[in-house]
Amino acid sequence: MYKDLLLAQQMYFLSDETKSYKFRIKQLTYLYQAIKINEEDILQALQLDLRKPLFEGYATEVGYTLDSIQYFMKNLKKWMKDQKVKTPFHQHISKSYIRHEPLGNVLIIGPYNYPFQLIIEPLAGAIAAGNTCILKPSEYTTNTEKIIIKIIEEIFERQYIAVVTGGKEVTSELLKETFNHIFFTGSEKVGKIVMMAAAKNLTPVTLELGGKSPTIVDNSAKLKIAARRIVWGKFINTGQTCIAPDYIYVHEKIKKRFLKILKKTIVEFYGDNIQQNTDYGRMINIRHFKRVSELIDQKKVYFGGDIDEESLYIQPTILENVTWDDDVMKQEIFGPVLPVLSFTDIDEIILLLKKQPKPLALYIFSQNKENQGKILDKLSYGGGCINDTISHVASPYIPFGGAGNSGTGFYHGRYSFETFSNKKSILKKTTLFDPNFTYPPYKDKIKLIKKIMK
Ligand code: NAD
Repeated sequence: MYKDLLLAQQMYFLSDETKSYKFRIKQLTYLYQAIKINEEDILQALQLDLRKPLFEGYATEVGYTLDSIQYFMKNLKKWMKDQKVKTPFHQHISKSYIRHEPLGNVLIIGPYNYPFQLIIEPLAGAIAAGNTCILKPSEYTTNTEKIIIKIIEEIFERQYIAVVTGGKEVTSELLKETFNHIFFTGSEKVGKIVMMAAAKNLTPVTLELGGKSPTIVDNSAKLKIAARRIVWGKFINTGQTCIAPDYIYVHEKIKKRFLKILKKTIVEFYGDNIQQNTDYGRMINIRHFKRVSELIDQKKVYFGGDIDEESLYIQPTILENVTWDDDVMKQEIFGPVLPVLSFTDIDEIILLLKKQPKPLALYIFSQNKENQGKILDKLSYGGGCINDTISHVASPYIPFGGAGNSGTGFYHGRYSFETFSNKKSILKKTTLFDPNFTYPPYKDKIKLIKKIMK
């Protein structure tokens, strides 16, 4: 079904047009300018789709991608240079280097929660690396999808970058084609489908998935700061953030006090009538509204718990006395419900978390260096923060991605360029002489090779 489109992109890629620095910079500039020009419409689309507050829309989607594209433009020349590396002694008089070449034809599939950023950010990386692209935005965020189509069709030809729309049927059809790379952001469940489809064509994949990201607050933590940073990270985008703190483990000694501060912070941030506050968004659709509402066990509500189906509103909600037997702990919450569990011994938490799937993010709030170190040394996860939440995603200097079930591969900044490039390894050897110690007959040469390679 999408054979012709992909064929056109394959032909275009084979023309070598997309490879030069000049071409790539020009396209990144077009993209940057188009986002600038359409800024208001993008923010409005995000409001229509998710009732995303303007500030959040700008900080996490529009401004975020503008910033990122500028960073690509500033660094692209440097990244595209052949990377000189050492050559081992036994490869006498040779030079070695790595050339980054485009992968070719790339498919980018996006989710609904940051529907603009999670299409445009990987796209910028794919352009910087010299690829063609087919983009498949989420079918849930139709307004954002429209503005993405408008931007892309205005500045790019379909043989270079094209948007394809639709739900899982469309994605399944796309996945039958042979791309050179598939970059998927979405759920673990669909990630498996994508990986299976890609395996049929031996297509490499980047899977940016989700999961339950723990937040640990020990008894040395600065509680007010911890509460502000957790409440912000949890309830931004109505909890629909892949790296949002999924649940909190707080030290038993400070639990009561911390719960009070959490509650106070929510009121400070969003006021008493949160439903009327434009700084707070909505669930994406009725399915997710129902799914998350059902995770609220009214007997365990410490704060919040109000819902309104008509407007897809779920109040920021804190649950206490939660255990791993509760439904809320059996799936990624991906909504504004924050379960609080407690601990007395950090080593026990570490042991328990070791048995869970590796999360996308993990946060520790602590002034205790030993505890910070233990978490870093003993637990494996995609990334995270010490004394903050979410912020690591906003740095182009560190790779962003999951570990184990929360994803495969990474991107952002130079890592995006690398993800969408093939590292071609070159060894260039002198022809001035050609010693024969590696060639047959091997007689007696074993002694020499053993001296060199030991
Ligand atoms: P999703 O997996 O339901 O959908 C993602 C994309 O896959 C959409 O474009 C959709 O059309 C397509 N899709 C859905 N079902 C499909 C199927 N059966 N076959 C082929 N394609 C299919 O994800 P979502 O609900 O849009 O997003 C939420 C999930 O994404 C959460 O799990 C969240 O943690 C994760 N996420 C991860 C990151 C990250 O960077 N790691 C970022 C955002 C969201």
